[in-house]
Amino acid sequence: MKRVALYPGSFDPFTVGHLDIVQRLSPLYDEVVVAVLSNPKKTPYLPEEARVRSIEESVKGLSNVRVLCSAGATVDVARQVGARTMIRGLRSVTDFEYETTLAAGYHYMAPEIETLFLLAKPEHGYISSSLVREIHALGGDVSALVPAPVLSALAQKNPRKENEK
Ligand code: ADP
Repeated sequence: MKRVALYPGSFDPFTVGHLDIVQRLSPLYDEVVVAVLSNPKKTPYLPEEARVRSIEESVKGLSNVRVLCSAGATVDVARQVGARTMIRGLRSVTDFEYETTLAAGYHYMAPEIETLFLLAKPEHGYISSSLVREIHALGGDVSALVPAPVLSALAQKNPRKENEK
């Protein structure tokens, strides 16, 4: 049976911490599906298409990784792609509290799906999408925090600031 892992998130935007998780997952599964989950009630920093495209470009060297987006329930996406495993990343005790609650929700909705956690590399422990958004919105340099295709997507969001550099 094909072993498929689903890595769901907002990825707004996808960071080098997220990329590291995908790179470490890729050799462990037959297929890794990165699911960009959109929340129709929230205005994203990067539009869905830009997030999906920039993640696709960031993972293009990994042949068993694909990217999709969905506004549905995460467990439904897992079932649709045939994933028995849900992957989440852990950076800190704060993440642990949030993530265990989320995993309990997944378990309630889909007991056949296991949630597994990968620890962030120590050097990625402080990197978050919200940190990237805050620095970028102030015109700061986020090139060490996101893969190059994400940097380009961010530049398109705010070309004036990038041109001024
Ligand atoms: P959410 O789905 O809660 O909006 P994100 O899109 O920010 O979260 O992240 C998706 C998953 O990646 C989460 O499990 C999160 O804990 C994890 N993650 C976020 N940042 C990092 C990082 N720097 N290193 C490893 N994992 C991370």
